[in-house]
Amino acid sequence: MREYLNSCLSKLLAGDLAAFGGPATDEAVAGYIRAEQLSLVLGYSLGIMLANACNAAVLAIALWHSPDRNFALIWAAIVICGALSIGLKARSSRLMTKPQFVSRQAMHRLVRNALVLGIAWAIVPVAFFANASNGGQLVITCLCSGMLAGGAFAFATIPVAAVAFTAPIFVGTAICLARNDDFAYLLVAILVVAYGFVLLRGVFANSFEFTRRTIAQLEAERRGRRDPLTQLPNRFAFNECLEGALNRLARTGEEFAVLLLDVDRFKEVNDKFGYPAGDELLVQAAARLQRCVRQIDAVARIGGDKFALVITNLTKVEDALEVAERFVSAFAEPFAIERCEIAGTTSVGIAVAPRDGDVPHELLRNADIALYRAKQGGAGTICFFEITDDRSAQQRRALQRDLEFAIDRDELFLLYQPFFDIRENRVTGFEALLRWRHPVRGVISPTEFIPIAEETGLIHGIGEWVVRHACATLSNWPSDLRVAVNFSAAQFHNASILETIVQALSQARVAPHRLEIEITESMLISKYAPASSILNALLQLGVTVALDDFGTGYSSLTYLLKLPYTRIKIDQSFIRGMLSRPESAAIVKSIITLAKDLRIGVVAEGVEAAEQFDYLRQANCDEVQGYLIGRPVAAENIFALLDQDKQWSTPGA
Ligand code: C2E
Ligand code: MG
Ligand code: MG
Repeated sequence: MREYLNSCLSKLLAGDLAAFGGPATDEAVAGYIRAEQLSLVLGYSLGIMLANACNAAVLAIALWHSPDRNFALIWAAIVICGALSIGLKARSSRLMTKPQFVSRQAMHRLVRNALVLGIAWAIVPVAFFANASNGGQLVITCLCSGMLAGGAFAFATIPVAAVAFTAPIFVGTAICLARNDDFAYLLVAILVVAYGFVLLRGVFANSFEFTRRTIAQLEAERRGRRDPLTQLPNRFAFNECLEGALNRLARTGEEFAVLLLDVDRFKEVNDKFGYPAGDELLVQAAARLQRCVRQIDAVARIGGDKFALVITNLTKVEDALEVAERFVSAFAEPFAIERCEIAGTTSVGIAVAPRDGDVPHELLRNADIALYRAKQGGAGTICFFEITDDRSAQQRRALQRDLEFAIDRDELFLLYQPFFDIRENRVTGFEALLRWRHPVRGVISPTEFIPIAEETGLIHGIGEWVVRHACATLSNWPSDLRVAVNFSAAQFHNASILETIVQALSQARVAPHRLEIEITESMLISKYAPASSILNALLQLGVTVALDDFGTGYSSLTYLLKLPYTRIKIDQSFIRGMLSRPESAAIVKSIITLAKDLRIGVVAEGVEAAEQFDYLRQANCDEVQGYLIGRPVAAENIFALLDQDKQWSTPGA
């Protein structure tokens, strides 16, 4: 009970208005409100203290001929010194950065100072009024009224301080007036009470309004710094935190680390299960990440599925590694979303300041580069930024710049790899595979530059070039051959893709059924909605569609039913392991059976050995593609390859 009363008193003396019907706040908000109140008071403290000093000097002059002159002079000297010292102190505190939190004790000190000053002024009517001349009494009356009004104004947002300052003056004035039985003094007393009442009411009303407005402003500020989905700090708040850590580094040399991570294959999850499920995954991931860090550290969501953390006060680099390991293991358990269990993984990139940079964008960029390398190392990898990373990132940027001019400089070319029909014993077509002849680095594989083209949007121009060239080449081939062209998901975001394909076909004067579009399974899942309308339009045109690298993505079989594919291509990883691993063989056989049941064609990719060919023939596979049949060749070598066609009639032999 005693503790409770103490706490109530402490709150009350710290300016908390909840006891008077003001809004209830937690300590963090109350501390912020106190900071705002104090900042206001400090703002005009020097002026008010100067006014106090002047008033004290005026009073000393007014009482020059009074018998209390000496006492008045001592009093004035003390008040002038006290007021000037408080004023100057307030001024120097004001020059410092405004704090976000002010303790109750600081407010208690302010209230105490207000009380001391109030008592100092209360002495005036009690000690000097009786012996003062008429003029002196007039001055004292004016001064006391002025001090009451000035005090109410100075502490207009802190009623407890206003009361602490004005109450002694009221009491002093009351004592002074009560000593006199003149009716006029009774009237003055009534007036003083009325003024005091109006002033204090004004102070309370103003304080309530101020508190409410400050809370609303704080809420708005917090909202602006918080990610609405996960309730974690957002990018803006993270940048502030990073700036703060850099300032401390400059002042005290305190090292810190920046950790960056994202949810692997988040896009696929998002697109396969829908945005609400993706959002739920982020919310759960955010909660798990926040549990891995100290109370004072806050994981921030800085965009999409990217999270970041500044670890301050780093004693050794291993501390950052420890937190990163906790992040990785936080993803070990699958996420329960909409009655499904979704497996999530993450990789972490770490940059350490000042070693890896001493400006925000450099540290973030280097953490991002480290994250990129970590992702290449597979799920759960943690990488610190290394100087060689920077070099490979630079190479990537250089490649990106060069790729912009690859078409104009005629550096792209296509190779063609045959499909072989097992039952018909003949080549039925070719897959167009893109290459880039880089002026310095030589021929570059599509696996290296297609991702860059996709990221930068260059894929649209490149894709158009590929389909036009593939169709033009196709026009020279016998009419029973088809050409297959690989497409990236991003290409289906561009509505003009349909027109491009139609134009390429009509310019080359080839029948649409001779063009096959290869899309990968994961791409279909991720871009299903936009792709389906364009793909359906292409299918209506007569173009055929093959599902590439089947078995490597989420392999949601329901998607197989939603679009009328012409063919599925079994990924080469299964063909490679087919003869040594029974599981791979089982997958290959079931995909072939599935394709047969759905009445669509099936192609085995990456056939390199005659034994693989024989196995696939027995398993009833329709077509094969791979180095055994032929490596990708230039368009001019196709006819030589077709001439050998007869020799392939028994490739397994
Ligand atoms: P993909 O469409 O699955 O192409 C098959 C890849 O396997 C080709 O690699 C091919 O050269 C290789 N390959 C074929 N047979 C064998 C074999 O028997 N053994 C082995 N080890 N490999 C074999 P490539 O040409 O490097 O292409 C890689 C990927 O790049 C392609 O995979 C495709 O996804 C993409 N790509 C190629 N050209 C284009 C294009 O024009 N546009 C787009 N968007 N992607 C392309
Ligand atoms: Mg392909
Ligand atoms: Mg493939």
